[in-house]
Amino acid sequence: MNQAKQAVVIGAGFGGLALAIRLQAAGIQTTLLEQRDKPGGRAYVYQDQGFTFDAGPTVITDPSALEELFTVAGKRLSDYVEMLPVAPFYRLCWEDGSHFDYANDQEALDRQIHARNPDDVAGYQRFLAYSKAVFDEGYLKLGAVPFLSFRDMVAAGPKLAKLEAWKSVYGMVSRFIKDEQLRMAFSFHSLLVGGNPFATSSIYTLIHALERKWGVWFPRGGTGALINGMVKLFEDIGGKIELNARVAAIDTSANRVTGVRLEDGRTFAAQAVASNADVVHTYGKLLGQHPRGPAQAKSLAGKRHSNSLFVLYFGLNHHHSQLQHHTVCFGPRYQPLIKEIFNGKTLAEDFSLYLHAPCVTDPSLAPPGCGSHYVLAPVPHLGNADIDWDVEGPRYRDRILAYLEERYMPGLRSQLVTSRFFTPFDFRDQLNAHVGSAFSLEPILTQSAWFRPHNRDADLANLYLVGAGTHPGAGVPGVVGSAKATAGLMIAEMMEGAR
Ligand SMILES: Cc1cc2nc3c(=O)[nH]c(=O)nc-3n(C[C@H](O)[C@H](O)[C@H](O)COP(=O)(O)OP(=O)(O)OC[C@H]3O[C@@H](n4cnc5c(N)ncnc54)[C@H](O)[C@@H]3O)c2cc1C
Repeated sequence: MNQAKQAVVIGAGFGGLALAIRLQAAGIQTTLLEQRDKPGGRAYVYQDQGFTFDAGPTVITDPSALEELFTVAGKRLSDYVEMLPVAPFYRLCWEDGSHFDYANDQEALDRQIHARNPDDVAGYQRFLAYSKAVFDEGYLKLGAVPFLSFRDMVAAGPKLAKLEAWKSVYGMVSRFIKDEQLRMAFSFHSLLVGGNPFATSSIYTLIHALERKWGVWFPRGGTGALINGMVKLFEDIGGKIELNARVAAIDTSANRVTGVRLEDGRTFAAQAVASNADVVHTYGKLLGQHPRGPAQAKSLAGKRHSNSLFVLYFGLNHHHSQLQHHTVCFGPRYQPLIKEIFNGKTLAEDFSLYLHAPCVTDPSLAPPGCGSHYVLAPVPHLGNADIDWDVEGPRYRDRILAYLEERYMPGLRSQLVTSRFFTPFDFRDQLNAHVGSAFSLEPILTQSAWFRPHNRDADLANLYLVGAGTHPGAGVPGVVGSAKATAGLMIAEMMEGAR
């Protein structure tokens, strides 16, 4: 009987929520357990003195993947949340005072590219064609397909070889585009999902085609409104979500999981368990009592992990109308800085920043005439750089605010109403992220697809993973795609007895 099937999903990030919706929509009674007081994970929300701060994802792409979640549940996304288009997608700024508005308008793009280097107009067209080919192969065909056996990888091999997937994002962009700033403009995207443009597979150039195809969006009320819409959808179709529910252990019997135990002692039995928590935490802590747990955790801890982030949220009594919604503020160095962020043992003196100004699209996120913002700087994770963020955090905050005030937001420090920051320590302590990584395992080719932790565990037949640590990887489209891949396996195995 369908009603008897019960699943538990650990963690209410985008991936956990998307999976829980799919399972519940398929008739599996699903309980979603989240350790924090609010859902969202990296997409948590802070509210303070009338300001709303989305903690994490702000560039929402591929709305069709989100729409699909509502469709499988027999609902419509637009009945739960309004998605607003963002234009330009981003403004990219350099210290020489120049900027590039990356927009979904070919003429405007060509004009700006031509002004920098006329030859790059044709080069950009070739880059876009390449990016579309990778998108068709890597996202549309393989983005939500679980890579469980090496055969799957071998099958995808020739296509990936043809697309020269071993090349880096930056290497591939440079083949087509000569102007150095344009190379930066079209290669930085992999940083949005924790990928070093100089090391990550050129497959990640697909983000460019994905943005051009479906646009960049922002939910009215912020990303948190989208999370709330997903929670409401899940509950509307009968799902149960428990907040302040920290899972202490996944229970097992021989090579099957039987349910989970919370730190407060409560237990939840289930025919299948999926973890949206960090993969090292899942195996090392939650599965610590089963031989599979420590062994797999050790192996995963030895892999390369994505960088961390320093994120500063601040509310101002002023609206900076000169800003765009998304601004990338490139610092004086590109490749050397990225190398230090991914491999360095210290914090670089300079930084490159991403500045979020959501009131440009939705003024309701701050009191009238005010502005809510966040600015983030990619920084090394704690396994590489042993930085005491309790000491460094306030210093780094002050340096970043001074820099923004000087170059982008005149008067900023005198306009401050509220501020708070989130450091690698918080990724580690509040999100259980191994070495405080902001994006889980680094998306290099040898840690992608079959080489990434699988959507279903190889030994424990009814333990599944969802989210940034499994295939296809980090980013909202990535983890929503991982939910589709994992749900496909779980539904087949639980409802149709395929396993
Ligand atoms: C600052 C920032 C900005 C970003 N910007 C963008 C962007 O603009 N666009 C984009 O596409 N992506 C962006 N990303 C990446 C994207 O946010 C993440 O890849 C994605 O949200 C991760 O989702 P997830 O499903 O893996 O789960 P997470 O969000 O990591 O959630 C996992 C959940 O599991 C919970 N959990 C952990 N352990 C336990 C336990 N023991 N018991 C119960 N619960 C537990 C955690 O509390 C958490 O809620 C950004 C990331 C960050 C950090």
